[in-house]
Amino acid sequence: MSLLTELYKDIAVCRRCNLYKHATRAVPGEGPENAEIMFIGEGPGWNEDQQGRPFVGAAGKFLDQLFSSIGMKREQVYITNVVKHRPPNNRDPLPTEIAACNIWLDRQLELIHPKIVVTLGRHSMARFFPNKVVSKIHGTGEKRDGVIYFAMYHPAAALHQQNLRNEIEEDMLKIPALLKELKEPAQGPEKDKPQQLSMF
Ligand code: URA
Repeated sequence: MSLLTELYKDIAVCRRCNLYKHATRAVPGEGPENAEIMFIGEGPGWNEDQQGRPFVGAAGKFLDQLFSSIGMKREQVYITNVVKHRPPNNRDPLPTEIAACNIWLDRQLELIHPKIVVTLGRHSMARFFPNKVVSKIHGTGEKRDGVIYFAMYHPAAALHQQNLRNEIEEDMLKIPALLKELKEPAQGPEKDKPQQLSMF
């Protein structure tokens, strides 16, 4: 059994907070163990709770469109959330719930070791950029220990607000260049330039 599959079994029986009491099933995340990019949302909604898969509702359809805008398919990336059980009535996850669930996200980051971590929305952003505001830092990233952390709006927020939709579409288009930069770091005089990504 793969390490990810083992992890999913542990998440399925997680009782570290009370969210499991209201949920149909856990939504651990999905994608290949060797994915280069990990997208992290907030928490499962109704559709995700029914299917046990992340981002399969309206926000997920939009996310799929964003993937195809950069020539990627959802099967190539890893997708998960900061909390693995659905908060009742789609409310925001509580800080205590996010804290309790952190060990699973840590384990996913350890196992998958993505080159780029994309945060979708403020709850996911706060995990990596505490005290920052998504409206200020979306579309920018920071490189830490060889991994780029890149902040984006949540696709659900962008679904109904055209200005956010444009922003999230533009932010997504920056990802291929980030990946390229990680794989082929600048040579010659370029390499001595300050980190373009560290914009916060
Ligand atoms: N919104 C999220 O943050 N995550 C999902 O999986 C679906 C919708």
